[in-house]
Amino acid sequence: MIEKIDRLLADARNEYPETGVTLGEPMSRHTTFRIGGPVSALIEPKSIGAFVWFVRELTGRGIPYFLLGNGSNLLVSDGGHEAVALSTARLDTLRFSVDSVICGAGVTLARAASGAREQGLTGMEFAHGIPGSVGGAIYMNAGAYGGEMRDIVESVTCVDPQGKVRVLPGEECGFGYRTSVFQRGGAILSATLRLRPGDPKKIKETMDDLMARRREKQPLNYPSAGSTFKRPENGYASKLIDEAGLKGLRVGDAQVSEKHAGFIVNLGSATFSDVYSLMALVITKVYKSSGVRLEPEVKIIL
Ligand SMILES: Cc1cc2nc3c(=O)[nH]c(=O)nc-3n(C[C@H](O)[C@H](O)[C@H](O)COP(=O)(O)OP(=O)(O)OC[C@H]3O[C@@H](n4cnc5c(N)ncnc54)[C@H](O)[C@@H]3O)c2cc1C
Repeated sequence: MIEKIDRLLADARNEYPETGVTLGEPMSRHTTFRIGGPVSALIEPKSIGAFVWFVRELTGRGIPYFLLGNGSNLLVSDGGHEAVALSTARLDTLRFSVDSVICGAGVTLARAASGAREQGLTGMEFAHGIPGSVGGAIYMNAGAYGGEMRDIVESVTCVDPQGKVRVLPGEECGFGYRTSVFQRGGAILSATLRLRPGDPKKIKETMDDLMARRREKQPLNYPSAGSTFKRPENGYASKLIDEAGLKGLRVGDAQVSEKHAGFIVNLGSATFSDVYSLMALVITKVYKSSGVRLEPEVKIIL
């Protein structure tokens, strides 16, 4: 595998010399959990053309890879990964018009939402405090405080699992609760988000209010990946976890947050297996106490 990756990188140096390449990069530096072992190479293409080239070449050459946005919904195992992390971090262009914004997949929601506010465009307030990239948020159909990506995605430019670049209208993105068609394959390259003219002062007030609510409820002082589990039908994972008496439960340095039972936090030196074991324990105990089987929201890379 290493030889295949070396050959790919040698070819890439000719085709796309401006690509960022870091060998043996620990994923703990790129996940909000601060957990994850080294990948063979972290690759950060600088243009959509280069990104598409890498997706096609990685697939065609049979090199295992995963897509990395802002790493805020990822739990990556600690061992070495004979794989490439293909990062959207440098697909970071942002272009506003009177009622929309075109974002590269790597633009953070915070940057896009702040930009929208400065332009006097409303619609992204809900997304401002979600620490993901536009690509990762569309993949997850991320949402908060009554809004979700589905509400604002006009179209997505992606490379489909067959390597073809396509533009999908929002209605064809298969959005559901924390899911989208992209979870079946493909890579999001950029998206057009539909916004509306609004009052910048009001937009700021809403953003500040939602951020204050996050700070009050969520353990933002510890590394985590946000809500560990999906919301079950007719309920909240955090409520079930709390009712099962699991707040504060620990495995190693992973802990069910004492502030918000829906979050597992890294108290300092949690390993992948600390978090993974704690998740399994929570699932078992909640099932015993409520009959509900929780499902992970975080994406696990073994
Ligand atoms: C403190 C905290 C608070 C949070 N609050 C919320 C919240 O309120 N609501 C919410 O929904 N989520 C929340 N999250 C979770 C997380 O921020 C979202 O799921 C976010 O959308 C993930 O985006 P990302 O760029 O970090 O994706 P990553 O974590 O990098 O990746 C997540 C998944 O998306 C895939 N992916 C990433 N980019 C692409 C792409 N361009 N094309 C195809 N696949 C891609 C990855 O392969 C992976 O499977 C929170 C997380 C934290 C740490």
